[in-house]
Amino acid sequence: MLRCIDFSESSQVVALITPELGQVRGLAKGSRRPRRDGRLPLEALTQCDVVLAQKGAGQLHIVAEWTLRETFPRLATDLSRLWRAFYADEVTMAFATETAEDGIFYGRLLDLLRRLDRGGEAELALFRFLTQALEASGHRPLVEACAQCRGPLEGTPRFSPGAGGALCGNCGRGEAGAFAISRGALAVMGRLAARSDREVGGLRLNAAQVAEIRRAFNEQMQYYLGRPLRTARFLAASAGMGRPAADQP
Ligand SMILES: [Zn+2]
Repeated sequence: MLRCIDFSESSQVVALITPELGQVRGLAKGSRRPRRDGRLPLEALTQCDVVLAQKGAGQLHIVAEWTLRETFPRLATDLSRLWRAFYADEVTMAFATETAEDGIFYGRLLDLLRRLDRGGEAELALFRFLTQALEASGHRPLVEACAQCRGPLEGTPRFSPGAGGALCGNCGRGEAGAFAISRGALAVMGRLAARSDREVGGLRLNAAQVAEIRRAFNEQMQYYLGRPLRTARFLAASAGMGRPAADQP
């Protein structure tokens, strides 16, 4: 479940990512009614088995049956992890469409939620997810060569959301919206696209690289969406602190 909104006294409208259909929206009739079996209303950041009565693509389907299968209870004990989960949730809602190909988001998001819940390396896991999400939607920034002249990243590299990735010193000079980024951060962003998780697991990031990579992803996604991600600032405020942010979205 990506998002669950109360629709009436008794029902919810939900967005979910599915392995077969990509992202779909549905009406869960009666999901808010008290039930003899103690089942609660549907909640975001949970994994459920659902039976969908499908309408046409892009329409609101009917969520006819659902069973809660997996929750991530430890996320709620660490706000920096919880916000990473909500951020990935929002990225999925923004980029996954209702197509079979975007079913790939399902496994990627589930894998990230399990990692965050287990308490493993959180920053790298989130960056890996973002790389794969942008790759799946055809928006992964080019960081291995200059996004403009396709030449090597000579001189002082910059990152340009408008150009779709890193720029060499020549192309980056005078490019509006471009900002300086270190070679180390670009190298990490390249490695994040590796096929096997093993290659990514060995990466080590310092705080400066984390900030640079986070900014590059944020601005790249904002450029494509035409708006900032709502959760980005909460993530920035809570990262590394694990304590409550001042307010909620
Ligand atoms: Zn160039």
